[in-house]
Amino acid sequence: MLKFRKGLADMPPYLPDVEKDWEIKANANEAALNLPPLVAERVMARLSRVAFHRYPGEEPELLREQIARSYQLKPENVCLGNGSSEIIEKLFFAFGGKGHSILYPEPSFSMYKIYAKAAEAEGIPFPLGEDYQLDGDAFIALAKEKKVALAVICNPNNPTGNYLPLEEVEAIAARLDCPLLVDEAYIEFSGGSASCLLAKYSNLIVARTFSKAYGLAACRVGYMLADAGIAVMVNRSYMPYHLNVLSAATADIVYQMRDEYGPRIDMAVAERQRMFTRLQEIPGLKVFPSAANFLLLYSAQAAALHEALAARGIGVRSFGAEGRLAGCLRLSMGTREENDAVFQAIKAWGK
Ligand SMILES: *Cc1c(COP(=O)(O)O)cnc(C)c1O
Repeated sequence: MLKFRKGLADMPPYLPDVEKDWEIKANANEAALNLPPLVAERVMARLSRVAFHRYPGEEPELLREQIARSYQLKPENVCLGNGSSEIIEKLFFAFGGKGHSILYPEPSFSMYKIYAKAAEAEGIPFPLGEDYQLDGDAFIALAKEKKVALAVICNPNNPTGNYLPLEEVEAIAARLDCPLLVDEAYIEFSGGSASCLLAKYSNLIVARTFSKAYGLAACRVGYMLADAGIAVMVNRSYMPYHLNVLSAATADIVYQMRDEYGPRIDMAVAERQRMFTRLQEIPGLKVFPSAANFLLLYSAQAAALHEALAARGIGVRSFGAEGRLAGCLRLSMGTREENDAVFQAIKAWGK
């Protein structure tokens, strides 16, 4: 008899689509390109000097200080994590527990619900509007009514692509009487980060990641910016040395050289606009406007389209036939050539 933790068997697993070796992998919002050559050179040189026999020492600390400086904050305001996933999970842990509730938009990042459950908090989904827009007044009202311990918004929202203007994020932060996490995993593609508001609102928490715009998904590095009183509690929930030296040193160099990524981010944005326009010409396909590096598509025959693309070696994310995202597919932007191939495949299928 295996006495597993109560509720664990009901936790939905996160099932990354790893079985298939996609020719075009457009299902996880990853960056289209590997490290820029100049960055790769410096990363490899740096990794060759790592003291593999020592626990992480200065590398995570240097990264933390560098990030703090770039936002004119103190290191005490920065938490690093194994992807922003680890940070969000620990933040939910820090504000969760029996009798506490956490508010997050629906549909949004599927992990919020799972982290809320893992933290033994009550997860409260806030329904987004018709075209997935977020009604700030209603969001605040529900947060107050339910006396939530933490409210979350995802900006731009995954998987719908909506961007909430900074003034609206500010209005929410100002009027909530609880902490507000703004998950900015895709903010490089939209601009308008809430990080400039941190000095003004001590309840504001911003989560960022190296996995998307900075193409470092393999390393699992993210960070959170918050009031020191919040950051200290999140840091308390980590195990010792949670961020490994290889990832920390790599992210440290990537962050130093982040200007190298400007042209790539611009390309992803331009490709998103180009594909948005082109895909709209396809009959029966609804394309949602997006501020991120992906597009959300709706088709009454989404399952068949998903399959037709898979048959051509193109992997996109499907959201099944149930719920608010029924009939929706999410297409991550690749290189121009990859996007052209995806467009041709969708067009050929549509005929
Ligand atoms: C990808 C993603 C993250 C986290 O990714 P990490 O690789 O763990 O940093 C967080 N939030 C959203 C909405 C995402 O799409």
